[in-house]
Amino acid sequence: MQLGRQRASQNVEDRRGMGMVGGGLGIGGIVVAVIAYFLGFDPGTAIQVGQQVGGGQQTQQQVQKGAPKDEAGRFVSKVLGSTEDVWGRVFQQSGAQYGAPTLVLFEGQVRSACGVGQAAMGPFYCPGDEKLYIDLSFFRTLHQRLGAPGDFAQAYVIAHEVAHHVQKLTGSFAKLEAARGRGSQAEFNRLSVRMELQADCYAGVWGHHAGALNLLEAGDVEEGLNAAMAIGDDRLQRQAQGHVVPESFTHGTSEQRLRWFKRGLDSGRPQDCDTFSARTL
Ligand SMILES: [Zn+2]
Repeated sequence: MQLGRQRASQNVEDRRGMGMVGGGLGIGGIVVAVIAYFLGFDPGTAIQVGQQVGGGQQTQQQVQKGAPKDEAGRFVSKVLGSTEDVWGRVFQQSGAQYGAPTLVLFEGQVRSACGVGQAAMGPFYCPGDEKLYIDLSFFRTLHQRLGAPGDFAQAYVIAHEVAHHVQKLTGSFAKLEAARGRGSQAEFNRLSVRMELQADCYAGVWGHHAGALNLLEAGDVEEGLNAAMAIGDDRLQRQAQGHVVPESFTHGTSEQRLRWFKRGLDSGRPQDCDTFSARTL
C-alpha cells in the first residue's frame, strides 16, 4: 500500500504492554477464546460468544490515545484513517453521518464490553462499546500460519472489522441479535455467514475507494483476495481438525469470502453487498 499521504486516525487506544488489571482470565474467558478459535479467526460477531464482564476498571494505567508513533501502530492508524474517509463519504452520500469506531491495540488479552478477548481469537469487533480489538501478532499468524502475507492483507482484516461497525450503524447486527436463541444453532450460523460475507463485501467497498484514492500499489488486490481465501471456514477447519463441518460455518467458505470481497472491490457500492436477501451466497 502507499499510505505516505494518508492521514492517521486519532481514534486509537494503545493498550499494548498493559495487561489486564483485576486478575487473570476466568473460566468464562477461556471458553470464549476456545469457541472463537474454532469458529474461525475473527469472532467479529462477538455477541455470539459474548458475555458481560462485570465491573472493574479496565486498567489503572493511563491508556494512550491517538495515533501511535511506532511503524506498526502508524500503519494501523492510517488504514483506520482511510476507512473513516471512505465510509464518511459513503454515509454522507446517502444523507447520513458516519460515527467512527475506536481501534484498540492490545497484547495477549483484553477486556471489552463483549467479554475478555484473547490474541488467539484473532481481531474482533464489539458492538457493545463500538471498538475493534487487534493484537498485532495476528498479522504474523496471517502471514506464517495462514499463508496470507502483505500489508493489504492486513488492511483487509482491519477493513473487515470496521465493516462490522458499519453493520452496527446500518442495523445488520440487530438482525443477528434478534435471531439469537430463536432458531437452531445451524440457523443462527447461516445468518452469521450472511453477516460475515457482507462484512467481506464492505471491506471490498473500502478497497475500491482506497484504490481510487491512490492508496494501492501493484499486487495489493491479489494480497487481499489471497487473504480472503485463507480465512474461509472450510480451509480453517481442515487445517485445525482435518475435516469440514458445513453446519458449523459462521464466516463462509474460502470461495464465498473471496467472491463477496471481490464484489465490493469491483463495485464500490454497499448496496451491492446485500447478502441478507441474496438467494445464493
Ligand atoms: Zn467478521
